[in-house]
Amino acid sequence: MIKICSRCRATWAGGARCDDCGGALVDPFADEAQEFPEEVWRYIRLQYGARRGMLVRVIAFLLGPVVAFVLLREAVLLRAGAPRLLASLGAIAAGVAVWAVLYYLAGQAVRVWVLRRGRLRKAKLARALLRRALR
Ligand SMILES: [Zn+2]
Repeated sequence: MIKICSRCRATWAGGARCDDCGGALVDPFADEAQEFPEEVWRYIRLQYGARRGMLVRVIAFLLGPVVAFVLLREAVLLRAGAPRLLASLGAIAAGVAVWAVLYYLAGQAVRVWVLRRGRLRKAKLARALLRRALR
């Protein structure tokens, strides 16, 4: 959980007091902390986005071998020789492919998640400015 110093706005991984200035650390999602500048929010999104990406990569790391093993178990039941060998190689390739695709998508998801929030905010700002201009 990310906490922010209410005095110097340093970000910390947790705790109650800022190690730099001794200010009280607040939860950025608590009501009293909604006034932080955009850079602070961008940093928080980046942190949580990176963490999400890491979790997906851990899942990929676990799921790849599972897929390979399940397919390999079917492959070894095939007739000995070329069919078994090819199916076994295919099973391993499928496991590697699952890992690679999830690993790649995790990186993309972090980028999309972090950037999309900024764009949404910009669109909202543009609408607000337009509404004010039309009034
Ligand atoms: Zn501080």
